[in-house]
Amino acid sequence: MQKFSYHTHTTFSDGKNSVKEMIEQAVSLGWKELGISDHLIVHKNIPNSPSWYKWQKEPEIFHWSFNDIYEKFARHIEEIHKTSENYPISVRVGAEVDFFTYDGWLDEFLRLREKLAFDYFISGNHYLFLDDAGENIIDFKDAQNLPIEQQSTMVKRHFKTIEKAVASDLFSFIAHIDYVRKLPLCESDKFLDEKMQLIKTIAKNNATTEISTKGIRKGGDFYPDCNLVKAAIENGVRFVISDDAHRTDELGYHFDYAEDVLSRFNCNSRWHFVNK
Ligand SMILES: [Zn+2]
Ligand SMILES: [Zn+2]
Repeated sequence: MQKFSYHTHTTFSDGKNSVKEMIEQAVSLGWKELGISDHLIVHKNIPNSPSWYKWQKEPEIFHWSFNDIYEKFARHIEEIHKTSENYPISVRVGAEVDFFTYDGWLDEFLRLREKLAFDYFISGNHYLFLDDAGENIIDFKDAQNLPIEQQSTMVKRHFKTIEKAVASDLFSFIAHIDYVRKLPLCESDKFLDEKMQLIKTIAKNNATTEISTKGIRKGGDFYPDCNLVKAAIENGVRFVISDDAHRTDELGYHFDYAEDVLSRFNCNSRWHFVNK
């Protein structure tokens, strides 16, 4: 069974446990490896979003200037390195990045990548775009109040944005590819063309995606759901198992079940740091 997770959060973003507590839990599970991937969300128009009224209560997650976050993330990276020195485990520093497409974002992200010593990045898109250029964002809850047709356009845009993240080749793997199912409009059999197109793009770019047990914790299916996992495997997509742990007791959650599903669908391409 996979004995590591590269998709985890700490109190640095929206996790409930410290870096030290997450590392100690991984060690007590017998893991030799852990990746910490707190959120990296920087969008120039965050304070102008219709969802700002709630985002402003979470200043540790939402940022609108890359310049403002360098020091903060540098300290975080340093803390992870320092803490991990005391434990018999290799800890890598990553970030779960919301990929944006407005002019200038990618250049700023590339600069951050040069300046800070991250080991890896995960792509994880959590929002919808109100316009084609991705200049204006809104969260899923608030989007539900918009006309259905507009929601549908935004869902298609969401998938296109993830495809651009895949094509950028900047990410070790692509997280929760059917995250849009948070929207009531997006039941599992909806937007199948868009989902399949994304899977094909992942395969074509030789990229990796995750099977995340977070969906199971929420009382549902994996992210992505089993049908999409099967379709992705049939298209030759490589997988890594994630827990998207936000607390110590979520590390390794139901990895045995994820292993069962991957082997049932004959997944023979798995991702691990030594492979890349
Ligand atoms: Zn996420
Ligand atoms: Zn996450």
